[in-house]
Amino acid sequence: MNWKGILLVLSAPSGAGKTSLCQAAVKLIPRLMHSVSYTTRSPRDGEVHGRDYCFVDEQAFENMKREGEFIEWARVHGHLYGTSRKALHDIQKQGSDVILDIDAQGALKLMPLKELNAVFVFVVTPTFAELETRLRNRRSDPEEEIQLRLRKARDEIAQFEKYDYLLVNDDFDKALKDLASILTASRCSVKQVDHQWLEKEFIRE
Ligand code: 5GP
Repeated sequence: MNWKGILLVLSAPSGAGKTSLCQAAVKLIPRLMHSVSYTTRSPRDGEVHGRDYCFVDEQAFENMKREGEFIEWARVHGHLYGTSRKALHDIQKQGSDVILDIDAQGALKLMPLKELNAVFVFVVTPTFAELETRLRNRRSDPEEEIQLRLRKARDEIAQFEKYDYLLVNDDFDKALKDLASILTASRCSVKQVDHQWLEKEFIRE
């Protein structure tokens, strides 16, 4: 049976735990790989070029954009971020599914592309107050930035109905299990069936 890889697209407001979920999912779930995005923001402490992001300058990003190398891109909190077509294809060629950690603008751009075989998951905290607490506990952002992220969160959450699944990240382990279940269910979807294989094996006499 031919494999049609699944693109698991995760978006969430900052502070909802999407990046940690993505990293844990790749460790836990066999045949799931993270596609490394390109960004113009500077690396944070501990981040590695090629593992966390491919860090490029605006000029290099613009060149890639012009050459059509991104399947989607967006400006988020003042920096450019983009998903490389080649990175996605390389993972899918290996027979793995792909997990993308992208913002809602990027996810909305991918939704009409049915050929991607994508499943869209939105991650939220149990309450808005909890989101605010988590953002403040990071202690890295100035107040103005926190307010900006909270306003953006309200706008993003308003789009939830466009997604296939909503994950409430109250208990991290449970959210991770739920994410794994979403992928398992998607892998068993009839949309995944190779029609030629089914016809040959069972339908044609
Ligand atoms: P951070 O700079 O904190 O790693 O990420 C900021 C935001 O950019 C997060 O919401 C993250 O999901 C989003 N992001 C990361 N990579 C991409 C990408 O390739 N495309 C889009 N649209 N958003 C991205």
